[in-house]
Amino acid sequence: MAATLAQVQGLVEKRRDEYVRRLADYVRMPSVSALDWGVRETGAHIRDVLRGNGFDARLLPTDGQPAVIAHRAGPDGSPHVVIYGHYDVQPPGEDALWDSPPFEPDIRDGRMFGRGTADNKGQHLAHIIATELLLELNGQLPCSVTFVLDGEEELGSPHLNEALAGIRDELAGDVTIVSDGPVDASGHCQLVYGLRGIVAFEMTSTGAERDLHSGHYGEIPPNPLWTLVHLLASMKDADGVVTIDGVNELVAPMGEREQQAMATLEPDPDQLLASIGATRLAPSPAASLVERSMARPTLTINGLHGGYDGPQVKTILPHTATAKCDIRLVDGQDADTVWELVQAHVRRHAPDVQLAWHGAMHPSRTPMDTPYAEVVAGAVRSVAGAEPTHVPVAGGSLPMWVFTRTLDMPALLLPLGNVDEANHAPNENFVLDRFYQGIAISAATLLALGRAAD
Ligand SMILES: [Zn+2]
Repeated sequence: MAATLAQVQGLVEKRRDEYVRRLADYVRMPSVSALDWGVRETGAHIRDVLRGNGFDARLLPTDGQPAVIAHRAGPDGSPHVVIYGHYDVQPPGEDALWDSPPFEPDIRDGRMFGRGTADNKGQHLAHIIATELLLELNGQLPCSVTFVLDGEEELGSPHLNEALAGIRDELAGDVTIVSDGPVDASGHCQLVYGLRGIVAFEMTSTGAERDLHSGHYGEIPPNPLWTLVHLLASMKDADGVVTIDGVNELVAPMGEREQQAMATLEPDPDQLLASIGATRLAPSPAASLVERSMARPTLTINGLHGGYDGPQVKTILPHTATAKCDIRLVDGQDADTVWELVQAHVRRHAPDVQLAWHGAMHPSRTPMDTPYAEVVAGAVRSVAGAEPTHVPVAGGSLPMWVFTRTLDMPALLLPLGNVDEANHAPNENFVLDRFYQGIAISAATLLALGRAAD
């Protein structure tokens, strides 16, 4: 007899404590890719969990941290669903900023606090538990499922594309589902069809071989901070237009359907500003706020460092300065081409500045009329009782392009996190009701995809 959603939900209800314990055990394993803390051990742990559920699971070596690949076949003729998540986490940052230690999960007010709770361990664990429950109830999955769990997502997945391209046949799927990030601001689930890409880089300027007296040498060697300030000013104007030569010309226009969806998503500017504690908007040529995050590239200075920033005065001419930046890319802006344009721009405007590339992702876009969208949206409705918000492009970046571009299948992002999950920040947390709901949504999605093929 086919498992029903109600049965799945009944079991989740009964086993809440057990699932919370399992999430806590998983979060307790640090897997910080940026610092190479415990990543491989954590990958082996989650591989073993999947093996225990009857998945054919292994660590796929890459030139960096391994990915976990786990496959279990469904009935003949059923669709093949690829579920992507990542088991690495962001560095915890300063311990003092956390109310409880980042790798000692703590439950307060219905939330589990800890690094990786929502980004992304809790979200893919919800999918893993969903497959476990469907297997328990039915003896088989409603469709073939392959988990791809990345060990380097927080580094920008530098080796995922090459590694997955090498097992292309194994990953010949019908649709990819990715759960990462939060539901929308009103608490509704959202279905996201595209993501921005990114190019991250660092620019270093050097003047003299050491810091110098600003009175004796102030105008003698170039001041590396001024060099960077002028260079940065040449890359984006005061109206917010990115002025790196050639970058804007690559932007692909939004389709009609995407534009309609965008119009329904325009937030109230005052509310948005209040939610982030800001009082005014940055200058931008965009006609709307949605356009800023979906249809236009950004250039962000992540950090600008150099010279003296201690107490009182130290009148030095610093010998070196660094700017870390990222550009978020929209459809049409191939990451490799944009990086070439950045290099050419720097060569032209400040040839002595050293450039270092810190990773890139292409943008991705799945057409909004993909037939899988309605199947997944129906599954969300059956659990959450409301239509998911349909979002043509989300502002962040994930390696969805590996699935849409390299593996050539539609990819849908179905975030399960709470809006205030504080991902990448101190006190990251996952609302446990969202975790339980995520398990049900995942099971409903797999059941619906299996039925759709009947
Ligand atoms: Zn993240």
